[in-house]
Amino acid sequence: MTAPAGSGAASTVAFAARSDVGRVRTRNEDVVDVDARRGWALLADGMGGHHGGDVAARLAVDTLADRLASGYRPGWRADAIVALLAEAVQAANDEIRRAAARDAALASMGTTLVAAVWAGAQVVCAHVGDSRLYRQHAGRFARLTRDHSVVQDQLDAGLIDDEQARHSPFRGMLTRGIGVDVVVTPEIARHDARPGDRFLLCSDGLTDMLRDDEIAALLAAPGSPDAIAASLVDAANRGGGRDNISVVVALVAI
Ligand code: CA
Repeated sequence: MTAPAGSGAASTVAFAARSDVGRVRTRNEDVVDVDARRGWALLADGMGGHHGGDVAARLAVDTLADRLASGYRPGWRADAIVALLAEAVQAANDEIRRAAARDAALASMGTTLVAAVWAGAQVVCAHVGDSRLYRQHAGRFARLTRDHSVVQDQLDAGLIDDEQARHSPFRGMLTRGIGVDVVVTPEIARHDARPGDRFLLCSDGLTDMLRDDEIAALLAAPGSPDAIAASLVDAANRGGGRDNISVVVALVAI
């Protein structure tokens, strides 16, 4: 899958997406979606209820995809995308809450979301929860999102270190989710997307099983986006596969 990176840019983005149930869970409550032609990737990790998690994740991804498709203009600019993503995330929140109000079995559902939209030499990212966006740029690997989680807050406060975070009983407890409250506050940021950059969207089923340096090595490996996505999922499964594992790999052409 390839997409133009935006008007005026010669570069293209090649995508691959994978979502795997893992080795322990019986249901996959993650949802991924890529629009390779127009250049965006969406990933949601649902939570709560009996069948609620997958419903919430699907509603979030479908709502975002609809809003982005309606708002899409060839050559659109990052500031327009920021506004569109803010409105779309709130719309997803509203959709999930309406569905939850109609069905008691779905009452406690919610979801994370990470949405990345490439335009020209930038990528605009909106996120809620602990699904992440990473970038490999000029040999440097960095996390571009900050988890909305109890463990992240404890790390920021200096109460625990990285190793304690990996084994924390609070792992997976979010401080923000889509569908949880009447108003949701996504974090929306713009980042450079240069020729040769590699991006990764992922759920915590990947990051709970692999350290950042392990993820960086797999993302930097030669091969197609599909092969890289498969190697990330395989490694998380070898590490235990305790949760659903979802990844979107996006390679900006050189
Ligand atoms: Ca998860």
